[in-house]
Amino acid sequence: SLKITDECINCDVCEPECPNSAISPGDETYVIDPGKCTECIGHYDTPQCVEVCPVDCIIKDPDNAESGDQLWGKYEQLTGNS
Ligand code: SF4
Repeated sequence: SLKITDECINCDVCEPECPNSAISPGDETYVIDPGKCTECIGHYDTPQCVEVCPVDCIIKDPDNAESGDQLWGKYEQLTGNS
């Protein structure tokens, strides 16, 4: 999963770009649901939130590190596609 750091300025640009609807406004900053984030695997070549974030505050979540195979598995589970 990806993660939004506390440098987020709550601009809301990333939320509509997420194909998994994994991004939402949190208490302090926008947050990513690690259960839904596939790092855009299955949808795009690069994570779309990272592409659009104006302050580059979206990183790989060290607490939810996943392999490409694991992210593909999550994509299949979420979408029913394989
Ligand atoms: Fe926060 Fe970046 Fe998303 Fe804007 S694009 S809400 S700064 S994480």
